[in-house]
Amino acid sequence: MNQENTMPQIQGFLVRGLPVIGEGDDLASLIESLFELQDGDVLCIASTVVAKSERRFRELKDYEPSDRAKEIAKSLGKDPSFVQAVLDESEQVLIDNPFLLVATKFGHIGINAGIDQSNVGEDRILLLPVNPKASADRIRKELSKNCAVIITDTCGRPFRCGVAGVAVGWSGIGALRDWRGERDIHGKALEITLEAVVDEIAGMANMLMGEAGDGTPAAVFRGLEYSKSGGELFMPEYQDMIRRHLTSYR
Ligand code: GDP
Ligand code: MN
Ligand code: MN
Repeated sequence: MNQENTMPQIQGFLVRGLPVIGEGDDLASLIESLFELQDGDVLCIASTVVAKSERRFRELKDYEPSDRAKEIAKSLGKDPSFVQAVLDESEQVLIDNPFLLVATKFGHIGINAGIDQSNVGEDRILLLPVNPKASADRIRKELSKNCAVIITDTCGRPFRCGVAGVAVGWSGIGALRDWRGERDIHGKALEITLEAVVDEIAGMANMLMGEAGDGTPAAVFRGLEYSKSGGELFMPEYQDMIRRHLTSYR
């Protein structure tokens, strides 16, 4: 057997059997009652269920749409209350037609501020957690084992078709792997390569979880090697050329 074949293996598991999550539910205990975690595991949880447990449900009728919300809603053919909900979660609007792309208050950029209307129930919306990194920290500390936690959301990507899972919060794992200074196969030093490892893991987790009625909002990866801290996924505004271009047209 060559050396590659004896390398440690990576395993991925879905946590099956979680109930419909409600306000105040203890996700860490629910997950650990169904799945035996081990030290070093990476636990991925869909932002949807973190938000549910953190009481982030809202009713559209509770929003009072501003003139701006009404105007945007009209041009999009959307409910003004929904647009108001998006604006309330936003730091900055980057695109307001033909969809609403915003920077959320915690730094993630996404369509409709990541507000969900599926897997939520009738007439309700579900906001993202207020601060998913803090949520990931809290859940990690509540676990009985020493694991990393990644909170995922399904997102569209600029320039590419199809949605994929990304990390909106993480704890106990470095967001980026720094390859700078390492050598390529020809011995040339890499200069700028930072790899978004938590997004890569979130992508796989999201694929295992599914998008519809699968009822599987948690996945665990075992055997991954990762650094415990460091790195940031949300690009600072001053470095973000694309954000600057988008907003300069507005
Ligand atoms: P998002 O990607 O975080 O927006 O979450 P999705 O709505 O795509 O849901 C991800 C996965 O979690 C899917 O398999 C859903 O069926 C499942 N899911 C969503 N809400 C719940 C819930 O309250 N309980 C359970 N058991 N599964 C849920
Ligand atoms: Mn979502
Ligand atoms: Mn999803």
